[in-house]
Amino acid sequence: KANRKFHEEPTVVDVSGVKIGGGHFQIIAGPCSVESREQIIAVAKAVKASGATMLRGGAFKPRTSPYAFQGLHGEGIGLLLEAKKETGLPLVSEIMNINDLDLFAEVDVLQVGARNMQNFDLLKELGHCRKPILLKRGLANTLKELLMSAEYIMAGGNGNVILCERGIRTFETYTRNTLDLSAVPVLHELTHLPVIIDPSHSTGYSRYVAPMSYAAAAAGADGLIIEVHNDPAHALCDGAQSLTPGQFDEVARKVRRVREAL
Ligand code: PEP
Ligand code: MN
Repeated sequence: KANRKFHEEPTVVDVSGVKIGGGHFQIIAGPCSVESREQIIAVAKAVKASGATMLRGGAFKPRTSPYAFQGLHGEGIGLLLEAKKETGLPLVSEIMNINDLDLFAEVDVLQVGARNMQNFDLLKELGHCRKPILLKRGLANTLKELLMSAEYIMAGGNGNVILCERGIRTFETYTRNTLDLSAVPVLHELTHLPVIIDPSHSTGYSRYVAPMSYAAAAAGADGLIIEVHNDPAHALCDGAQSLTPGQFDEVARKVRRVREAL
């Protein structure tokens, strides 16, 4: 179902009125994790003013260490809903367990994180809902495996899948992961689904986010998902790769210029 051979036209995913894919480019921005009302409302207002069209924020965090901040769970979703009410921005948030689905009733896009890309039971269950799914590439998965995971969701009847390249594991250590930018043209050849780039998790450092964002736009990505925090130095998760609202404003502005130059 994901194969372009049988579906030539690019799929445009409609996220509560915000279209992505087939020439519609969107920037999703927000903190790695929802930390407080003040934080999420401040970041939501700032990224909206800079042109972001969806708000991201994790409430369930897949952390490497069980002792690291795990997210605010239901309370975090509640705060996201307040930010949505305040700004009108559709929400993107990661679901780790299908038993939490009811909590996500008002969340517009369900994110499947890199670590769950091959959680086939989760994918099958998400195939039975009609919400757009943001499917991130696994840390060590091929594009073919990413497409087969999309297929699991689509096989259940949910064709609203957005693919995300977020960097893969290589021998390189100067960046957190290695951004496989060629995923954009390759996936556009293989599938009709929208493809977005995550320059935050792929590089791991805020100073590399801007250049990779421009490169992604130039490569023909259908959007970006960028981590933005009002106080990156004190972020409970992924502060090193988070942009300040001011930095994000410049990135969003220049990304638009790259798009215009295409
Ligand atoms: C995230 O988006 O905060 C996240 C955990 O991403 P990934 O699954 O790509 O590591
Ligand atoms: Mn993160």
